[in-house]
Amino acid sequence: MKPVAIIGAGITGLAAAFYLKRKGIPVTVYEASGRVGGVIQSLRQDGWLAEFGPNTLLETSPKIGQLVRDAGLQSRRLDPDPKAETRYVVRYQRPIEMPGSPLGFLTTKLFTAGAKLAVLREPFMPRRRDGAEESIAQFVVRRLNQEFLDQAIDALVAGVYAGDPYKLSVQQAFPKLAQLEARYGSLIRGQIFGAGARKRSGEVAKDRAPKFSFDEGLQVLPDTLAVRLGNAVKLNTRVTKLTQTADGWALTVLENGREPQGNFEHPTSNIQHPSFQIEHSAVIYCGTAFKLAELQIELGTPASGPARSDFTKKPGRRPAFQEFSEIRYPPVASVVLGFRREDVTHPCEGFGMLIPKIEGFKILGTIFSSSLFPNRAPTGHLTLTSYIGGERYPELVLLPAEKLVALVCEDLRVLLGVTGKPAFQHCVLYPKAIPQYNVGYGRYRELMNEIENKAAGLFFAGHYRDGVSLGDTIVSGVNIVERVAGFIGPVAN
Ligand SMILES: Cc1cc2nc3c(=O)[nH]c(=O)nc-3n(C[C@H](O)[C@H](O)[C@H](O)COP(=O)(O)OP(=O)(O)OC[C@H]3O[C@@H](n4cnc5c(N)ncnc54)[C@H](O)[C@@H]3O)c2cc1C
Repeated sequence: MKPVAIIGAGITGLAAAFYLKRKGIPVTVYEASGRVGGVIQSLRQDGWLAEFGPNTLLETSPKIGQLVRDAGLQSRRLDPDPKAETRYVVRYQRPIEMPGSPLGFLTTKLFTAGAKLAVLREPFMPRRRDGAEESIAQFVVRRLNQEFLDQAIDALVAGVYAGDPYKLSVQQAFPKLAQLEARYGSLIRGQIFGAGARKRSGEVAKDRAPKFSFDEGLQVLPDTLAVRLGNAVKLNTRVTKLTQTADGWALTVLENGREPQGNFEHPTSNIQHPSFQIEHSAVIYCGTAFKLAELQIELGTPASGPARSDFTKKPGRRPAFQEFSEIRYPPVASVVLGFRREDVTHPCEGFGMLIPKIEGFKILGTIFSSSLFPNRAPTGHLTLTSYIGGERYPELVLLPAEKLVALVCEDLRVLLGVTGKPAFQHCVLYPKAIPQYNVGYGRYRELMNEIENKAAGLFFAGHYRDGVSLGDTIVSGVNIVERVAGFIGPVAN
């Protein structure tokens, strides 16, 4: 049996490959860079453990914990310190605890009486019935008020998408919020009355889902899956072309393409590397949307005509795959800094702080990494992981590392009372970090459905299709397995 080709050894591709292999279906995972994990990157150095990409994995679905167990990683799972539940949002130039209960909400200094009244009024606000897509900013102002948008949702959007609330689509980027309004007529009523339905589905809301990592950081998960997959994972191997054949797909791959990091862009090299064509039964694309746009694709020759390289026959539209280059991925720089405990006034006990734009700081937010997982810093020290750039200030990421560190230190000085020089510092730039599910994103999802319907045996999974969180991508990788297995049919053991 010809193997299933999986393009991309980020967590989506590895999860899909792992479960296909367990079903007895042979796989080959092609990864353009020299490492597995995609945007997941953990670094252990001199007693510090830095995470540059995701910091925690939210267990929003039972499939996530199941993957950890199936990979044999249960004993390496690290749950956060219970004290680290507290989240802060910056207002009046200082971090204020986010309320964790209705009473806490009524007494918090984070919101004025006007915003509190808006929440009490929300169940009585009329629901929108025309079904038109709107931005998260429009949605929040319509159901709550401007203060809620500026002080809370803007910060949340920066924390999840590094995005712009005036551009992100509520239906595409926050579908659960849109569904609560559609089904219950109100977010608050939906929270209360939707609890039973969530329980039955086994799903856990993101704000309540347990979060975790591993003893040596999140990189443990892709590394372990890669070990389980053995020589089925081909590093430094970029897929450049997909050709549909009579009984599957032929992939053109470029070996030793030397791509240093996950989704980074590189100067094009003049060196010609050998390319090969390899036959596969099916293909799952688990890369990024912008790399998808670069793939050449040739559909099988229909009996009546020449090979087609384009799915869209509609006038005025670009060839299907090229349309994915329009999906915006703003840049993000992760700045991980270690300080001596006595050089930081704030206790930094909690998950971290989110910062709305209106407060005028450069950083989007900071995770109190060593409060979450104490083994992230040597004794007597703490680690703070800050993000800079995103849609808010994309130009800042172009600064040299030393300037980025200085900018972050200045914000941390005001917000957390950080003094002294960092004892540890490391920056990683993601030139194209997180896809923006902006208003209109639905057409890219429709296009993916259209391509899958026309190109039998070609499947799409990952952060550009099924949600951007690490948990969403794992579920996406797990779910695609059933569809691919169904396409291939029974496997002889
Ligand atoms: C800075 C940052 C912080 C984040 N923080 C969190 C967090 O705290 N919690 C959370 O839940 N989520 C977080 N996320 C999001 C989450 O980490 C990602 O959505 C998820 O890891 C994406 O996984 P993926 O496998 O879909 O894609 P990727 O990790 O992007 O992997 C895709 C892989 O495909 C390869 N590839 C692409 N094209 C080709 C080709 N033609 N041939 C071969 N290989 C190819 C790439 O080299 C890459 O390795 C964060 C993301 C970033 C960038």
